[in-house]
Amino acid sequence: MRLGIDLGGTKIEIVALDRDGAVRLRRRVPTPSDYAAAVEAIAALVHGAERETGERGTVGVGIPGSLSPVTGLVRNANSQALNGQPLDRDLAAALGREVRVTNDANCLAMSEAADGAGAGYRTVFAVIMGTGCGGGIVSSGRILDGPNGTGGEWGHTPLPWMRPEEFPGPRCWCGRHGCLETFLSGPGLAADCDGPGARDAGSIPARAAAGEAKAAAALARHADRLARALGMIANILDPDVVVLGGGLSNMEHLYREVPPLMARHVFGDVARTPVVRARHGDSSGVFGAARLWDSG
Ligand SMILES: [Zn+2]
Repeated sequence: MRLGIDLGGTKIEIVALDRDGAVRLRRRVPTPSDYAAAVEAIAALVHGAERETGERGTVGVGIPGSLSPVTGLVRNANSQALNGQPLDRDLAAALGREVRVTNDANCLAMSEAADGAGAGYRTVFAVIMGTGCGGGIVSSGRILDGPNGTGGEWGHTPLPWMRPEEFPGPRCWCGRHGCLETFLSGPGLAADCDGPGARDAGSIPARAAAGEAKAAAALARHADRLARALGMIANILDPDVVVLGGGLSNMEHLYREVPPLMARHVFGDVARTPVVRARHGDSSGVFGAARLWDSG
C-alpha cells in the first residue's frame, strides 16, 4: 500500500493507493498552525489509515516548498511554520520508517505522468499556476532533480524575451525581479489586470467574455507570457507533453491559444508539444505524493 500526504496551508489530506492505483481511503483534516501539531496530525492520519486498511504503507509527502540538500530543512515554503524544520526526519521518527518529501509541482508531475494527462509520454513537464507558479519534471517515471534540489523551479526564472515595458518586472517574494511567478500566478495576473494590490484573478475570464477590454488584454498578455516561458522549456528540455495544473489551468483559452504562440519561440521548424490540462485536478498533489516510492 502507498500512502500520500498533501500538506497544504489550510488542509492536510491523506490517500491510500493499492497496487493498481485504486483509492482505498481518503481523509482530510485542517492544517494546525503550529509545526509540532502538524507533524502529529500527519502521524495520526497515517496510523489511522493503516488501522482502517489493516496494512502498512510507504509514505510520501508533498509540500509547498522543498528540502534543502545542504541542511535537510524545509525552505521556500509559503506556509511559514514549515520553513527551517526537518520535516522528513521528524516524520521518520514519528512513523518509524523513511519518508519521502518533495514539492507539490513534482507531485503533480508524478501523478499526471503515472495515470493522468501525461500517461504514455516519456518526459512530462508539469506546471502549477495558482497562488504561486512552479514546475516539476518526471522522465521515465522519475522526478528529475540535482545537486541544488531546484529541478523544475521554473517559476523563479525570469520571463524570457522580455519587452521594454515588461523590464525588469515586478519584485518577487524570492528577492528577484521579473520571475515567471510574478506574471503567471493568479495574483500576478490580477495585478497586471487591475493594478498593484489586486490578488484575485478568478473573475477575469468572465469579465473578458462579457466584453471588458482590460480583462481581455490582460488574459492575452498572460497567454503570450506563458507561451514564451514554455517555449524556453521546449528549447532546453523538449518535454513530450506539458500538463497544466492549479487554479488557472481551468482557463479554457490557454489550450487553444498557447500552443501556436509557443511555436514562435521554439527554435527550428517543429513545435508540436501538446499542452493539456491535468486530469486529477486538485487531487494530483496527494496522488503524486503516494507515488513518490514508485521509482524505487
Ligand atoms: Zn521569484
